[in-house]
Amino acid sequence: MSDHLVLGKFKPMSELNKTIKKSYIELNKDEVNSLIKELDESQFRAQQIQNWVFDHHVETWDEMENLPIHIREELSARLRLHPLEINYITDSKNASTQKILFQTQNGYPIESVLMYDQKRTTVCISSQVGCAVDCKFCATASMGFIHNLSTGEMVDQVIHLQRQSKTKITNVVFMGMGEPFLNYRRVIEAAEILNKKMGFGARRITISTAGIVPKIRQMAEENHKYKLAISLNATNELSRERIMPLTNTYTLITFEYVLLKGVNDSPSDGERLLVLLQSLPCKVNVIPYNEIGGSYSRPSENTINAFLDSLKHAPFTVTVRWSKGTEIDAGCGQLAVHGDI
Ligand code: SAH
Repeated sequence: MSDHLVLGKFKPMSELNKTIKKSYIELNKDEVNSLIKELDESQFRAQQIQNWVFDHHVETWDEMENLPIHIREELSARLRLHPLEINYITDSKNASTQKILFQTQNGYPIESVLMYDQKRTTVCISSQVGCAVDCKFCATASMGFIHNLSTGEMVDQVIHLQRQSKTKITNVVFMGMGEPFLNYRRVIEAAEILNKKMGFGARRITISTAGIVPKIRQMAEENHKYKLAISLNATNELSRERIMPLTNTYTLITFEYVLLKGVNDSPSDGERLLVLLQSLPCKVNVIPYNEIGGSYSRPSENTINAFLDSLKHAPFTVTVRWSKGTEIDAGCGQLAVHGDI
């Protein structure tokens, strides 16, 4: 890295608090509409302002040439245009990468990266100040969690970077500071704005997660078309746990294994299971069979323990589901409804 270009200095918090104004970029549609109404203007002004910001990436209200001066003045008295200020830009030696340090209105520092490739220009944006996930190899983790970025603060990184960029930005990745899925709602809203107002195709927006499983599910259920990247970083559960402690909470894959007497319950079955799964980042949940009146039966406690013993040195976590509710047929595999319902 070279050429540190200093554009500004961090302001002390005391100074900042006096100057905090809401930013246009953070307003939702209803807020923009009521602002235009308050200014006694017709609604086409909303579209004009939107174009100046999201298509032309203007820095100041004054650059909005087709707005009468009194509206520009009125707007600038009420609102900031951008929630972020650029503080510092670092260029890589071969000019393929720029790192931009921003300051939020609350005085927090965040970083984004602009990367020029032959065919594409990618920006990597932050979703949080600091991070709570605590991956052992990541610099952001050492900050701890400080603050969730607002939707506007995320979108504004892209707007500023497009203004800085020599070429048109083609891709946006949420791989900067923070865990996007611990700020899920705002990240999705930011992606929606990038998609709908700035014209980035959904497949050109990638959200990366360390593996917050419920949010991965939610993203799938909500049918978003953005790309998902999962930071795997290990090939088995134990080594992933060491470097990414959230693995304890969110195992990547859980295999279930119903233990049937005389069928799959021997120690050599256990050894084969170990060989089969040892290279996967997974957890195995062993479920002693709950009898349902058919030809299979539950292994004895001794057999179950011998099976578990054969998995003692497995690199994955093994848990046993001693099913509750078996006496009322509410255990695993005992639920069945027959006949008319
Ligand atoms: N929290 C999200 C997104 C941010 S990190 C996530 O974990 O996916 C983006 C990527 O950088 C992740 O794949 C992360 O594992 C990786 N990473 C973190 N620290 C790194 C480092 N020091 N060197 C190389 N990659 C790193």
